[in-house]
Amino acid sequence: MTPPLPSEVSPRPSACPGLWRIVAARDGGICRIKLPGGLLLADQADAVADASERFAAGVIEATNRANLQIRGVGQDHSGLVEHLLAAGLGPRDAAGDDVRNLMLSPLAGLDPAMLCDTRPLAGQILDLLESTPRFHKLSAKFAVQLDGGEALAMLEHAHDLWLSAMPRAGRVWLRFGLASSLSSGQVLGAVPVEQGLALVRAVLERFLDLATPEQSRMRQLLQTCPVEHFLEGLAIQVETTAVAWQRPTTTSPWLGVLPQRQGMALGVAPPLGRLTPAMLRGAARIARQWGDGSLRLSPWQSLVLTSLEPAELENARAQLMACGMLCHSEHPLARVVACTGSSGCAKAQADTKADAVTLAGLLPQGAPGSVHLSACPRSCAMAHPAAATLLARAPGRYDLYLRDARQPGFGRLRAANLTAEEAGVMLDLPTEHLDD
Ligand code: SF4
Repeated sequence: MTPPLPSEVSPRPSACPGLWRIVAARDGGICRIKLPGGLLLADQADAVADASERFAAGVIEATNRANLQIRGVGQDHSGLVEHLLAAGLGPRDAAGDDVRNLMLSPLAGLDPAMLCDTRPLAGQILDLLESTPRFHKLSAKFAVQLDGGEALAMLEHAHDLWLSAMPRAGRVWLRFGLASSLSSGQVLGAVPVEQGLALVRAVLERFLDLATPEQSRMRQLLQTCPVEHFLEGLAIQVETTAVAWQRPTTTSPWLGVLPQRQGMALGVAPPLGRLTPAMLRGAARIARQWGDGSLRLSPWQSLVLTSLEPAELENARAQLMACGMLCHSEHPLARVVACTGSSGCAKAQADTKADAVTLAGLLPQGAPGSVHLSACPRSCAMAHPAAATLLARAPGRYDLYLRDARQPGFGRLRAANLTAEEAGVMLDLPTEHLDD
């Protein structure tokens, strides 16, 4: 099916940007491009880079849901959307744009530790979401994760539904949980991997049967609906015994050279999640020249270039660094995440992007842990608590929180009303306090 032209679509109301729903911000419109399982072909990357220059301010962001967004969009929304649709970056049905929220490992199908290649099932789940009118009623934030047991995996982001591969009697099964993350969620049951699509359909149907109009997310529904009641009405049999397999929780670094089952990949990140058109074109050129012609976006706001020629890895790394990409996890900016801040968001209390650069210069090289600067409590840039969070209270002033599993939100308040410089001194802590 050919996606409809921009003039034929009236986007449904939501505060979240979409392809057709270009949301106004202080620095212009924001257009979000949802990528299937984070996959972006090299030609599509070039098309996004071109679009950001022709129709916007040339600022592209990698999101923490492994998507891209173009910032600073001007008046010609139709021109922008047509350009992106021509590059194959739209849904098959405009009504299905918002619901294409399926997270995979950036090394799905390639990771040496994987128990199964999740990509075929992922394609079926995306087809289901896009082609089922009833599922278009789901919130633009309603999100599903499909984990194949890869070492490079996001374990901390909460999802409305997650499925995770486990070995069972010589076969692969999928355990699942609701409104939680892979690292801390309760396993509610399992099905053979062949029934994964039926399980997703059953969970989504059950959610829509039970949720009130105010309950757009699974966690909201489960506040009023006991999980046992939810499971009892599922239109699929799930196994609830012998599903307590422990998924390995040691994950791979996401920057630098990444092993594949065959070949090698390279993880690179634009500083603070922001790509220039030249950076995106540079990554596309290398993917085409020495890789498999594709890029994969990650939930760490980074890119993975897959199946690179081993002999060209260092060459590729050098060229990407010359484009401005971070290619080593030891780089201080690789530890820092910042939301848009006052240069682009009217809700911001501080210029988090600028303060993050100051702070990164003060962090000790090679120290583990992540630091998140959020210019308001909405925490757009990070979907789970960072080891340390600086929450803005005024321009240049922050409250510092340290993650604490016993405390909700950002964690334990460590100090209030700090400058970025003062916070940098305080963050030079023993690593057990900031360890990811
Ligand atoms: S966290 Fe707040 S200030 Fe930062 S981008 Fe989101 S809404 Fe804006």
